[in-house]
Amino acid sequence: MRHIDHVISGHSGGPNGSGGGSGRSHKVWNPSTGEVQAEVPLGDADLLAKAVEVAKKVQPEWAATNPQRRARVMFEFKRLVEENKQALAELLSSEHGKVVDDAHGDVQRGLEVIEYACGIPQALKGEYTQGAGPGIDVYSMRQPLGIGAGITPFNFPAMIPMWMFGMAIAAGNAFILKPSERDPSVPVRLAELFVEAGAPEGLLQVVHGDKEMVDAIIDHQDIAAISFVGSSDIAQYIYSRGTANGKRVQAFGGAKNHGIVMPDADLDQVVNDLAGAAFGSAGERCMALPVVVPVGEDTADRLREKLIPAINALRVGVSTDKDAHYGPVVTPEHKQRIEQWIDTAEKEGAEVVIDGRGFSLQGHEDGFFVGPTLLDRVTTDMESYKEEIFGPVLQIVRAKDFEEAVRLPSEHQYGNGVAIFTRNGHAAREFAHRVNVGMVGINVPIPVPVSYHSFGGWKRSGFGDIDQYGQEGLRFWTKTKKVTQRWPDGGGDGSNAFVIPTMG
Ligand code: NAD
Repeated sequence: MRHIDHVISGHSGGPNGSGGGSGRSHKVWNPSTGEVQAEVPLGDADLLAKAVEVAKKVQPEWAATNPQRRARVMFEFKRLVEENKQALAELLSSEHGKVVDDAHGDVQRGLEVIEYACGIPQALKGEYTQGAGPGIDVYSMRQPLGIGAGITPFNFPAMIPMWMFGMAIAAGNAFILKPSERDPSVPVRLAELFVEAGAPEGLLQVVHGDKEMVDAIIDHQDIAAISFVGSSDIAQYIYSRGTANGKRVQAFGGAKNHGIVMPDADLDQVVNDLAGAAFGSAGERCMALPVVVPVGEDTADRLREKLIPAINALRVGVSTDKDAHYGPVVTPEHKQRIEQWIDTAEKEGAEVVIDGRGFSLQGHEDGFFVGPTLLDRVTTDMESYKEEIFGPVLQIVRAKDFEEAVRLPSEHQYGNGVAIFTRNGHAAREFAHRVNVGMVGINVPIPVPVSYHSFGGWKRSGFGDIDQYGQEGLRFWTKTKKVTQRWPDGGGDGSNAFVIPTMG
């Protein structure tokens, strides 16, 4: 069985080449076959302390390296990731279960933030006011925080780490990444490539672990900031305990994104979009669209009629199947949890129109597959509506009018993303302005903002004030120093006056 290691001081294998840590380990599945393919050690506070000591040594010199040189490392890292993209995508897909094409997207969306980070000399420029008072100028500069940490979820093992360390390191920080223990190999490879790109060893380190390691990160006094992405209860916990410890924390949580379908929408386009947005990556995306809200009974009936054949035509396959729309879910426990949610929905009175429970793929009977599922007549009092399922399950919630359609996502506990499908510009504009959700798509089913804007949900989808990546990301990973300066000319009689040198 393959053994995955921590990356401390830029080397896989932890301090002195040992795995290091609590002595506990976690198994890494191949979700397509149902076999355990690797084992990852779970680190502890001692291991973290070693990583922090290394980070403390390298960070000051990195912060003092001029931004253009730092950018050169980011450029080279981008080139190396591109060169290794296929291998990274295959490795990612084998541990996560998403199909290889999707895994390419995972790497690519992370790389886009690295591209943004290549512009760090421009992005870091401060502000200057000449003559704020008599002889007084004011300027501000962005300085790094020191050591930052990232704790990431299983569902985007390339993209989310790159969102975090790309911005943090370009801004002059050292970074310690604690990736998901379910698919840790790609983050390890990224850290190795970062050293190959010319980054000082120890600037980006990877420590594996579970709650024990996460608690050690939250409590370590030399870690200045934590970026977390994962489920909401844990996000809230990390935010509360991290900020109580005086750290800067941004913690992004779960989601239940709604897609509003107005009566005038192009239903063929909507069905096509929903097939990808609800079922792609087996629904294991925080920006998936698991709830569709047709406005009016007639829209609902027409949509349902078109959805059924489209969903039945979806092909579920192993993650290397080029023709598969989606692959297995990440672990056997997650498969079981998704099927339990379908049971719950049925008991609560939802109509199971297409049932993905008990799905088995011929030749891969031990894989963690869940068939595509369509639930109709879902209502807001149902637990299966209120909570995140995170699987290939699409719920239809019928709204009687536009007002109700705005209210549903606005009142939901999560507020990550939302989409509206319509040909009516006024309705779309009203919706975008009024809905209480962080990221809005207008005829765009997965409205993940590009790398030069920023990413972040509202309500229980995001704790903290500052978004990921873009200028917001830069704000998160830096603090602003403000300098007010006056250079007196040295007194009225001229004896002490500053003499401006002249040529000659
Ligand atoms: P998770 O919350 O189980 O794990 C996330 C991280 O927290 C992992 O690194 C894990 O090791 C750690 N962790 C797990 N249990 C912990 C505990 N008790 N205490 C401290 N740390 C702990 O999430 P996941 O299952 O890996 O990922 C799926 C979730 O992430 C979904 O809820 C999804 O919506 C969410 N997500 C949100 C966004 C976003 O931007 N809002 C993006 C991707 C995923």
